[in-house]
Amino acid sequence: MEDCIFCKIAAGTIPCQKVYEDSRVLAFEDIHPMAPVHIIIIPKRHVATLMDVDAEAMADLQAMMSAAQEVARLKKVDRKGFRVVVNCNEEGGQVVFHLHMHLL
Ligand code: 5GP
Ligand code: ZN
Repeated sequence: MEDCIFCKIAAGTIPCQKVYEDSRVLAFEDIHPMAPVHIIIIPKRHVATLMDVDAEAMADLQAMMSAAQEVARLKKVDRKGFRVVVNCNEEGGQVVFHLHMHLL
């Protein structure tokens, strides 16, 4: 996806402050943090929205949840607590149309 900002981040064309990475997902600091800890977790493969998650992308979603656990530990909020949020489509507040999870 040439015009997708998160694909560019996944490809390393646009820099990010990486927090965690594995074969399926990448997690990085949100550029406009809404909380003391605000991490974006994305699948490396382009999927536009939660509604576009098929069987293959379901494995990415699982990997994103696993990554959320690891990021929570790395950011030391695993015990204190955090939220994970997926905005879907315009009225759901989605601005970047590459599936992502906010960890706040
Ligand atoms: P959405 O509203 O689509 O769920 O959230 C997109 C999030 O991505 C926003 O919180 C926004 O600050 C973040 N974001 C957008 N562009 C960039 C970028 O180029 N780099 C980083 N690190 N975060 C971004
Ligand atoms: Zn993308």
